[in-house]
Amino acid sequence: MSTVKGRLRIAVQKSGRLSERSLDLVRDAGLRVVKGTNDLLYRIENAPIDLLRVRDDDIPTFVADGVCDLGIVGENVLEEGRNGGPNAEVVMPLGFGRCTLKIAVPPTLDYAGPASLQGRRVATSYPRVLKRWLADQGVTAEVVTMRGAVEVAPRLKLAHAICDLVSTGATLEANGLQARETVLDSQAVLIRSPVAPEPELADLLNSIVERMAGVVASQGAKYVMLNAPRANLDRITALLPGAGAPTVMPLSGREDAVAVHAVCQEAVFWETLEKLKAEGASAILVLPIEKMM
Ligand code: ATP
Ligand code: ZN
Repeated sequence: MSTVKGRLRIAVQKSGRLSERSLDLVRDAGLRVVKGTNDLLYRIENAPIDLLRVRDDDIPTFVADGVCDLGIVGENVLEEGRNGGPNAEVVMPLGFGRCTLKIAVPPTLDYAGPASLQGRRVATSYPRVLKRWLADQGVTAEVVTMRGAVEVAPRLKLAHAICDLVSTGATLEANGLQARETVLDSQAVLIRSPVAPEPELADLLNSIVERMAGVVASQGAKYVMLNAPRANLDRITALLPGAGAPTVMPLSGREDAVAVHAVCQEAVFWETLEKLKAEGASAILVLPIEKMM
């Protein structure tokens, strides 16, 4: 596969846990996706960009080699792909696809820390990440690589422990395993190729990255409007989570109160609204933000 002249390429997971959210991000960045005749390639209608739809495991290499300019992939897969060769550069975390690579053990294994794995067999789909972690812990253990169904390995006596991805823990529980250590906290990240695009595409690439950063930044952010008694203004603005300098405006016909508008970078919970009310805030509105630059 080689790059197509005059077009950028973004690698996304074809079908799986990251596919939907990856496409959403592309669309939210203003790119109109049209399905091609070919399942592997979707075209962007309003920009010279193609989406290459592949297995997530292939994404780091495609981006590292410059076959794709950008990619969306889990940190777990990115870390497992590191092999001493040229690497894709992480542009930013995307806030979805969260999961944790954990060491889990059956109750029959007396676990008192990483040293309990000394001389044992550990099954995983992430042998490189696990070996690096074991080395960091100063533990020597045998790593058994399994493509899937890692959680059944202890029951089948293939391994004493496992190192696997966990999001809710339900799969571990169903297999009688207990999570004991965190090896890696992961989420989807935007990665960028160390290979520069054709010069005439460089601006487009930068603008896509910037738009995606805007989409990610606006997620979870809220626009808050409220009326506040002047006397409690400082206490009220201090309660607004992750707000920079709020806008304070006079209210016509009222000397004692002002209107406050603020962008809150963090979630605004009911508890916060209750505290605001307790300080005398009224007419509180919390609005979603669609785009931010
Ligand atoms: P592919 O066919 O693309 O190789 P896959 O089976 O490797 O698919 P998925 O199960 O779709 O991959 O998971 C893709 C990514 O989603 C994982 O690598 C991880 O970053 C993330 N993820 C989020 N939650 C979980 C979870 N509970 N279990 C596994 N992966 C998760
Ligand atoms: Zn995969």
